[in-house]
Amino acid sequence: MSRILVVGGGPAGHRLADRLRHHGHPGPVTILGAEPEPPYHRPLLSYVLSGRASPEALRLPALPGIEAHRGTPVTHIDRGRREVHTSGVVHGYDVLVLATGARADVPDIPGARGPGVTALRTAADCARITGASVVVLGGGPLGVETAAALAARGTATTLVCAGPHPLHDRLGEAASGMLTKALERAGVTVLAGRTVTAREPGRVLLDNGTRLPADTLALCTGAHPDVGLARAAGLRVRTGIVVDDRLRTSDPHIHAIGDCAEHEGRAVTGIEAAWAQADSLARILTGRGACAHRGTPAVFRLRTDIAEVACVGPPDAFADPSLRRLTFADWDGGRYARLALRGEHLVAAVLFGLADAIASVGELHRNSRALPSDRLRLLLGGPPRPASTDLDSPGEAVICLCNNVQRQDLAKAWRAGARAVTALATATRATTGCGGCLREVTELCARWEREIGQDGERTP
Ligand SMILES: Cc1cc2nc3c(=O)[nH]c(=O)nc-3n(C[C@H](O)[C@H](O)[C@H](O)COP(=O)(O)OP(=O)(O)OC[C@H]3O[C@@H](n4cnc5c(N)ncnc54)[C@H](O)[C@@H]3O)c2cc1C
Repeated sequence: MSRILVVGGGPAGHRLADRLRHHGHPGPVTILGAEPEPPYHRPLLSYVLSGRASPEALRLPALPGIEAHRGTPVTHIDRGRREVHTSGVVHGYDVLVLATGARADVPDIPGARGPGVTALRTAADCARITGASVVVLGGGPLGVETAAALAARGTATTLVCAGPHPLHDRLGEAASGMLTKALERAGVTVLAGRTVTAREPGRVLLDNGTRLPADTLALCTGAHPDVGLARAAGLRVRTGIVVDDRLRTSDPHIHAIGDCAEHEGRAVTGIEAAWAQADSLARILTGRGACAHRGTPAVFRLRTDIAEVACVGPPDAFADPSLRRLTFADWDGGRYARLALRGEHLVAAVLFGLADAIASVGELHRNSRALPSDRLRLLLGGPPRPASTDLDSPGEAVICLCNNVQRQDLAKAWRAGARAVTALATATRATTGCGGCLREVTELCARWEREIGQDGERTP
């Protein structure tokens, strides 16, 4: 019975342990996590910041049968003895999985490592963002989510970003301009084309000489894979810990997944990539199904109430001259879409203010399905419905990306008596991640009830 030891109790490590149990791994599984809190859903930290959710609400489900230690940083890997060291305790392993995630980048500006400055990476960081005025540095997704969350809790918030608009690189000029307007409507002051050059007590200095009051400077300036442990152990590291298609490092007894790993020459960050790698590795280690990991499609959705923003596919697709582009803009209504198509198939999309289209477009992209001829209707959320809400759609369609819940899992739970969304959520965990699949699950539930009946004379 092989002993599997996981270093890192973030979403990747937690998901791996869950899936190993699911696939019936017969040996012991142990997680050693550095953070003092039980594992939690990191992407929703901005909800804690805004006061929309308590830290407890973000907790990932407990894993019966898994030995989990928190507040236990691993300090050293002894590859020869197949042991890892924490302060005072040594744990042996047959298979070691590094899921050490990423660390926030701290820009090299005077005062950035002093008091009143914090990155936002952990639950503990949320508590460090205090005071009546906060300057958020960084116009990426994290900067936008953090600024919107702080404004929602009534903090005087300024977002400073180097580009012409927040998320300009990702969304393009039109949609990022709409985002600036949405942030300003939400009460955020956006200072674009600027950067912070120094932190002084109670304020920050900008590159144009302006001084802004700031009780806290929140750094949302990127993150890098946490490779320190792997590097010290002599594993092959480039940007991340280099892994092959079996998610193996340069030592065949050690694997790496999530934000710390570099697969196919890229250190891909993001929750979906972390989960997909954890799912693949669980199958690889238990000998279930596919024995190789394939890359994860790039999907990104902003988690904020100020605007519905989503991107699918690689951002550079819009610069590819061989692809057809289609744009829809409703300036007054704050709705915008940009699609890059190869034939009738979607390669990439940017969606702003089109909440109803996000699930449909994401589904078409994920399953490489041809777009319906009425594109406008699709963007406005009209039929055709995505395959996953179709009673006859394949059971493997993933409805809840966060918890990897397939349509067939929901159908099984429904047949077992879970006849409401809350009951389906309890049985399968669908809707309990980002909540993005709530509408799809609600529709499935309603359709099964309408078309099959509560007595279930047909099988979904
Ligand atoms: C505020 C915020 C919002 C985000 N929003 C999104 C989003 O909307 N969409 C999205 O796709 N992604 C988002 N992300 C990124 C996403 O959270 C990460 O991709 C995901 O958490 C990666 O999971 P992971 O388990 O690989 O790494 P992490 O979540 O970083 O977890 C790694 C864990 O390993 C622990 N660890 C490190 N070293 C050791 C050691 N030596 N010993 C023991 N434990 C160790 C760390 O303490 C940490 O708990 C967001 C991130 C943040 C911070």
